[in-house]
Amino acid sequence: CGVFGIYSRENNVALNTYWGLYALQHRGQESAGIAVTNGSWMDVSRGMGLVSEVFRHQLPDLPDQHIGIGHVRYSTTGSSSLMNTQPLKVKYSGGHISLAHNGNLTNARVLREEMEEQGSIFQTTIDSEVIVNLIARSRKATLEEKIVESLSQIEGAYCLVIMTEEKLIGVRDPHGLRPLCIGKVKDGFVLSSESCALDTVDAEFVRDVEPGEMVIIDHTGITAERFGDKANQALCVFEYIYFARPDSIIDGQSVYQARFEMGRTLARQSGLKADLVISVPDSGTTAALGFSYESGVPFAEGLIKNRYIGRTFIQPDQKDRDRSVKIKLNAIKSVVKGKSVIMVDDSIVRGTTSGKIVRMIREAGATAVHMCVSSPPIIYPCYYGIDTSVRKELIAATKSVEEIRDFIGADSLHYLTIEGLATSLKTVQDKKMCYACFNSEYPGSTPCEQHCGGNK
Ligand code: 5GP
Ligand code: SF4
Ligand code: MG
Repeated sequence: CGVFGIYSRENNVALNTYWGLYALQHRGQESAGIAVTNGSWMDVSRGMGLVSEVFRHQLPDLPDQHIGIGHVRYSTTGSSSLMNTQPLKVKYSGGHISLAHNGNLTNARVLREEMEEQGSIFQTTIDSEVIVNLIARSRKATLEEKIVESLSQIEGAYCLVIMTEEKLIGVRDPHGLRPLCIGKVKDGFVLSSESCALDTVDAEFVRDVEPGEMVIIDHTGITAERFGDKANQALCVFEYIYFARPDSIIDGQSVYQARFEMGRTLARQSGLKADLVISVPDSGTTAALGFSYESGVPFAEGLIKNRYIGRTFIQPDQKDRDRSVKIKLNAIKSVVKGKSVIMVDDSIVRGTTSGKIVRMIREAGATAVHMCVSSPPIIYPCYYGIDTSVRKELIAATKSVEEIRDFIGADSLHYLTIEGLATSLKTVQDKKMCYACFNSEYPGSTPCEQHCGGNK
């Protein structure tokens, strides 16, 4: 998911939140929502689909609105439905709160069951609702204390933007699993999952929210408070591999540079030579450019991606399964015909897409297809909000590299090693990152699979 927030009296906060979400659209395409307040009212508008589809006609609009937050959703488990869209808005004894959450809690199911036994009623099936309930139920005096008390009970991954009638609050979990950064606009501040959205709204990058830190923005400016120890810091390495936009800078590391380096390292590790390097667009392109740069093998566009596939796209039926890839990606025959190609992609999850693309490149006349993957084999599930939560669906959990090569029909298959990935991220090597889907070293407690609630 992606989250965004803005505190400003001079800017139209609803419009800026809309633009911010537009820049974060890659983090979730299932639903979008914006909440705004003017100090006395709070208005929220949410819907299914892309930001441009949800807000086709109208943005939330209050006179003198000065705070806005927004969310784009990507669900990993559970249902994708209107009920589960964010920001969530609740009324509690102190007023209204709206909240948007990126990440997955690992103990949401347990907390929810406890709260339901005590009489709490839930309106959604998302774990984020547990957080707003905890805040609303807290007996602490101030909002900040209520939030901190609630955070002490939740585990897992969470970046939150929280809005009351007076304040915009940003929170990053003590592992710092998901990114969150602060930007400055003329008379206020912006919070965003990624720095690419700061560029869109003309905000100047200030810094990343630190793991275990809460930032509070109100008419007096910005203050920060630590609620958790950052000793067990573990940013998700997949943000660099696949999830984030290449023009974002996360925890001091450019996503583009990280991907480019992954491609270079993979070229050195594989030692492969061929006529061309091609990428699986868009996610594989930066690593493919790095591979080409390092190996000296020319880069070419062998595949073209249709950019206009939205959520409302009608999926082909079962008997025409190959069609779904052909609608999204097509080979350029004149480029690959008669050539041996190195095809670079960022990751193999289930292996189904990769197999279809290898076949497509072969049918377009390539003499050999070498598949190069700029991440290690994904063997273990992710509990923190990325779509690899079911272990049995992960092809590398049950098959060897040779068996995967055979399954996808490539001439050879090369994965980046864990060490190669760490070398590629050398500028942030001093900071610990999560590599759990490759090495099962989870930064926190792991829920058993049926207790992995939440949908981001
Ligand atoms: P596969 O061959 O495993 O079916 O698909 C691999 C492709 O899925 C890669 O191009 C990669 O960019 C993309 N991918 C990687 N991680 C995710 C994810 O979490 N969600 C989705 N929807 N796609 C992903
Ligand atoms: Fe990221 Fe993998 Fe860790 Fe999940 S398990 S947070 S995808 S590195
Ligand atoms: Mg891809």
